[in-house]
Amino acid sequence: MSMFEDIPVDVGIIYEGERIRGREMQVELGGPREDFKFELVQAKELDEIEDEKITIIGNDLPDIPEGTNVPFGMIIEVAGTEIEKDLEGVIERRLHEYVNFIEGFMHLNQRYDIQMRLSKKSYQKGFNTLKLFAKVLFRLYKSEMSFIEKMQITFITDPEKVKEYYDSAMELYESRDAKARGMSDDDVEVFYGCSLCQSFAPTHLCVITPQRYANCGAISWFDGKATAKVDPKGPVFEIPKGNIIDSLTGEYDGVNRVIREKSLGEIERVQLYTGFGYPHTSCGCFEGCAFYIPEVDAYGVVHRNYRDKTVNGLDFVTISDLTAGGRQVDGFHGLSIEYMRSPRFMQADGGWDRVVWMPEDIMDRIKEYMPQEIAPKIATEKTVSSMDELKTWLREKKHPIVDTWKPEEEKKPVPVAQPQQQVMQQQMPMAGFTVPSLELPASALPMVGLPQGMKIKIILKNAKIRAEKVIIRAEKE
Ligand code: SF4
Repeated sequence: MSMFEDIPVDVGIIYEGERIRGREMQVELGGPREDFKFELVQAKELDEIEDEKITIIGNDLPDIPEGTNVPFGMIIEVAGTEIEKDLEGVIERRLHEYVNFIEGFMHLNQRYDIQMRLSKKSYQKGFNTLKLFAKVLFRLYKSEMSFIEKMQITFITDPEKVKEYYDSAMELYESRDAKARGMSDDDVEVFYGCSLCQSFAPTHLCVITPQRYANCGAISWFDGKATAKVDPKGPVFEIPKGNIIDSLTGEYDGVNRVIREKSLGEIERVQLYTGFGYPHTSCGCFEGCAFYIPEVDAYGVVHRNYRDKTVNGLDFVTISDLTAGGRQVDGFHGLSIEYMRSPRFMQADGGWDRVVWMPEDIMDRIKEYMPQEIAPKIATEKTVSSMDELKTWLREKKHPIVDTWKPEEEKKPVPVAQPQQQVMQQQMPMAGFTVPSLELPASALPMVGLPQGMKIKIILKNAKIRAEKVIIRAEKE
């Protein structure tokens, strides 16, 4: 008998990656239109929890008008003899996987950025109360993370209450994040890897270090350490960092070895503190992106909740599409907000001296961790609205990047993939190359069952062709 026999919709890994469009949705919990939303896991003592208790503060699903969105909070309390505070982050992050296992339920992002949608189809099939949602989570968590002995869930849809709990959730996230501040990557022998997002981006692996927080902003080095201990076969594991290859870019031979293995040879090297060369890959769950602006030879940074166009005319969705997918794309770099508080933030590219634009609300969140002299020189959407205004601003404020501009460099920026070029690069293997013809000797044709004189066509499907170098030469007719 299936563990979910009494649940009116199917539950399984095949539903991961299912997308629910606006017109198909019964309800959206949180999402970009809501200012207040969060998911939070809290570790408790065994006697503080009533196992499998479900509390709903506010409306349950039938009382929410079809096709609308609501502010949403979800507090999961867990207890077990092996459970410690440092496990909260990883237990919380597993929600992304488990909610997506439910047929017709979609979960995006994390912490205070969550967006969940339930489809009309699943609602009509009978998945029509948050109590069923909680039941599925109890069973998935307890079967996959056996160290969870007791668990209770509180859902909040009452707007006033969500707001009230949101403030305390933000304080708890901040105290988790603060724990690793002050530690250095040089102080530890082991980093942690997370492969949770490989179901969406098979070549992506997060390398979590004290000074480079996971891209999603949900897992710290301490969280990785606690999880690898209680769940050594799980998606979060130890990476012995090995010998340092380059301390400026953050390249280690142990990290490269694990990356090669986990990406099945697709990614050979990773340099942790740069957006060029061999940058850390990005799955798509990043909190923000650094994007190179060739006209000023510097970076802008944008976060997921920024809805307008950035200073170079691209919005977050476009920049995110160029960054995501487990690839290494020069000048497009997925990151967490916490990494922006790190002294290693993009250190190989010039660190903060190479950043020229960001939305004002991120600036407010991280200002105290930025070098004090640079903060007033970085533009925001409130101070400039075009590239020309940006250049003028940088000159007027004497931003350090201006000293690196030479007249010809202003006209000739470092070439990086722009949206149009990116599309071309992806299409090239199909449209741009001719595979040399392959001829079988005539004597072989009877062996493959073909009469002499008949041609054969060999189609290589999903073939991967690697080349050390591509040489393009003009040839006379
Ligand atoms: S973004 Fe990275 S750390 Fe976060 S869940 Fe995905 S793989 Fe893990």
